[in-house]
Amino acid sequence: MSDAAQPRRVVILGTGGTIAGRATQAGDNVGYKAGQVPVQDLLAGLPAWAGQAVDVEQVAQINSKDMTLPVWQALMARLVIHLQRPEVAGVVITHGTDTIEETAWLLQRVLQPATPVVLTCAMRPATAVSPDGPQNLSDALAVVRAPGACGVSVVCGGQVHPARDVAKVHPYRVQPFSSGEAGPLGVVEEGRLRRFRDWPRAHPDGLDAPAAGRFAALGALARVAWVTSHADADGSLVDALLLQVAQSPGQACRGIVVAGTGNGSLHERLQAALHRARDAGIVVALATRCTEGSVVGWPAQPFPDLDGLSPAKARLELSLRLSGV
Ligand code: ASP
Repeated sequence: MSDAAQPRRVVILGTGGTIAGRATQAGDNVGYKAGQVPVQDLLAGLPAWAGQAVDVEQVAQINSKDMTLPVWQALMARLVIHLQRPEVAGVVITHGTDTIEETAWLLQRVLQPATPVVLTCAMRPATAVSPDGPQNLSDALAVVRAPGACGVSVVCGGQVHPARDVAKVHPYRVQPFSSGEAGPLGVVEEGRLRRFRDWPRAHPDGLDAPAAGRFAALGALARVAWVTSHADADGSLVDALLLQVAQSPGQACRGIVVAGTGNGSLHERLQAALHRARDAGIVVALATRCTEGSVVGWPAQPFPDLDGLSPAKARLELSLRLSGV
C-alpha cells in the first residue's frame, strides 16, 4: 500500500517553551531559560518515537509568554503545508504552557483541521532531574495516532484537552491544565488513548483554507484589551484606552473584553466607563473571571459574551473577528 493510501508520517513542529528549557542546575525547575533545546534533541532516546516516520521542524524557539503574530503566522503556514500532505497522519507541536491555550484556540478556530494537531509542553525544563516533557511527547504521539483523531488538542500530564476548553489553572504542578466542567477529552494510559468525549470539530474540506489565507495576510491583529472587574474597580484603565483612541485612532484598541465577577456582573464605575467606550466605537464583550462555567445570558446583559469563551480566548476571538479572520 502506498504512503498516500495510508498516512503514517508524523510531523513535529518545535516552537520552544519549558519543554525545550535549560537550567544551569539540574535541580532547578523554575530558574531555567525556556526555548533552548532543539526539538530534534527532545525526541532522542524516546522509545515511543523510535522507528516512526517523522519530519521535524524548528519553527520558533521562544518562551510562549512572548508569543507574537509573526510566530503564529509562521507556525500556521508550516502547519497548513503539512496538513495538506496526504501521507501525514498528524502533527505534534511543542509549545510553552503559558499561552498554549491561545495557540490551540487560534489553530482550531481558524483551521478546524481534519488531521489531528496535538500541542504538547512541559512544566519542568529538559535539563530537570525528572523532566515531564519526554512522557508528554510520547503521549502526544499516541493521540495523533489514535483512530478517528481530528482537530486541535493539548496533551499534558496524561490528559488530553480540547482547544475550546483547555486552560492553564496552576503555575507549577506537572498537570496544570483543566477543561473545566466539561472535563478532559480523554487520558493516555501506557500509550493508549481512553476517550471520554468528542474530538474538536473538523472542517469538511480538511481545513478552512480561506480563513488560513486571511490570517496569513494580516499585517497586525486588531488590538483588544482585557480588563477585569473587582472590588473597588473604577474606569481609569478604560478611560486611558479611550484617550489613546482620541489621540491616535489608527493604532488604538478596537475592542475590550471585560472579565466580570460571577455571572459577568461589573462594578458600576467600570460599567459606566465601558459604556463610554462603546459609545466611542470600541466593541465590548463580556466574559467571567470564574474559572469554571460561562456567562448565562440575562435580559439586561450590558454587553454580549463570546460563546462562553474564557477571557483569554474571548480576547483572541474578538481580535480575530475585528481583523476579518
Ligand atoms: N514560560 C514558559 C512558556 O510558556 C512556561 C512553560 O512552557 O511551561 O514558554
